[in-house]
Amino acid sequence: MTAKTVAVVGAGMGGLTAALALTKKGFDVRVYEQASELREVGAGLQLGPNAMRVYAALGLDAVISRFSFVPDAHAVRSWKTGAVISSTRMKGIYEKRYGIGYHAMLRADLQNALAAALPSGALHLGKKCAGVENRAGSATVRFDDGSSVDADVVVGADGIHSVIRESLFGPDKPRFTGMVAYRGTVPIASLPEGLLAPDITVYIGPHASVVYYCIRPGELVSWVALVEEDSWRRESWSEAGDVDALMRRYEGWCPVVNEIFSRAEHCFKWALFGRDPLPCWTSGRVAILGDAAHPMLPYLAQGACMAIEDGYVLADELGKLPDEPENGLRQYEAARLPRASRVQLMSRERARINQLPSLPARIARNIRFIVDKLIDPERHTYKIEWIYGYDVTR
Ligand code: FAD
Repeated sequence: MTAKTVAVVGAGMGGLTAALALTKKGFDVRVYEQASELREVGAGLQLGPNAMRVYAALGLDAVISRFSFVPDAHAVRSWKTGAVISSTRMKGIYEKRYGIGYHAMLRADLQNALAAALPSGALHLGKKCAGVENRAGSATVRFDDGSSVDADVVVGADGIHSVIRESLFGPDKPRFTGMVAYRGTVPIASLPEGLLAPDITVYIGPHASVVYYCIRPGELVSWVALVEEDSWRRESWSEAGDVDALMRRYEGWCPVVNEIFSRAEHCFKWALFGRDPLPCWTSGRVAILGDAAHPMLPYLAQGACMAIEDGYVLADELGKLPDEPENGLRQYEAARLPRASRVQLMSRERARINQLPSLPARIARNIRFIVDKLIDPERHTYKIEWIYGYDVTR
């Protein structure tokens, strides 16, 4: 039977991108989101050229460029002195090398742009999925209000605590990493002029790191602080973080870091859990994508980028085999699982390298960064050209 209707569960970056890509392929798409309104927390999102290429193919790159910031470089700095250890130029270079640049923006701006691009009536808010069942030639999504919908295909884009993943493959077994992420935004006007570099700036130190970057040109900066902390174990942004305690934790770091924290408009915290790659993402007429399929630590800023790539490929594969949706979903999995798993594992390794506790190990790492730059100044400090250069739209 030809797949025509697709139910997407979750209106995060992955679900909305998949919904838009599926709509452009001619599918009748409905998105079901548990929240009663779209309200991404005020925080930033980095979009590498690999994700931006998807938005160019979907016709959203011009809208994104209007709101977003294009950083000059990715700069890795010393936690103590703030001196640049390694810097990779991006602005102007990435546009030439990858055909599209590196962007950073407010999550809510992207979510709103995606939602606005969907056909009216496609988005259904206040619908919390309670489970999914495969049937002969369709699948059924059940909601916690007792209602249900049938669709030719169901896509689980319901994030790290995915109900769809659990329905298909059972409960997952996350391991607490001992790390907690704090994040917030700061109005640029509240900071001393010239304090911040126009880069994706990463301070790397023992047991901790900090990232900041502009997300609305001239207006807003986003920051993320990653620290070892044992007492908080919830994967959710619903908890406010204590900025004063955070500043005490970063005593002795480059003063710019605490200057940023001290001007935070708000601060939320999220405990970081590690998960191993899953062996499969599809079952019959149901597939998962994004954090539901490959939750990863945020050290490469690629979780949403992978979700965005997933959404595009899923639509593409279903579009190629509209009469064989099960095969289309299997093709999607085959195309995506190895790459996303590799990024998932590499993000974990980056966490270790960026936050090495031992001084000799940190010195050896920094020397390696410097030597690598002398050998090839254009190469990214993290050697992730294979991530940025990949084009799912080809
Ligand atoms: P989500 O964004 O989690 O969306 C899932 C949606 O499903 C939500 O709207 C949720 O309400 C809904 N939902 C959940 N359960 C149900 C249900 N039962 N029924 C209905 N709806 C449901 N990635 C990047 O690419 N770049 C970055 O710069 C970056 N920075 C990060 C910084 C930090 C500190 C962290 C923790 C992560 C970062 N990430 C980044 C990762 C990125 O945030 C995630 O990978 C991305 O949000 C995953 O998108 P998603 O659509 O799969 O899931």
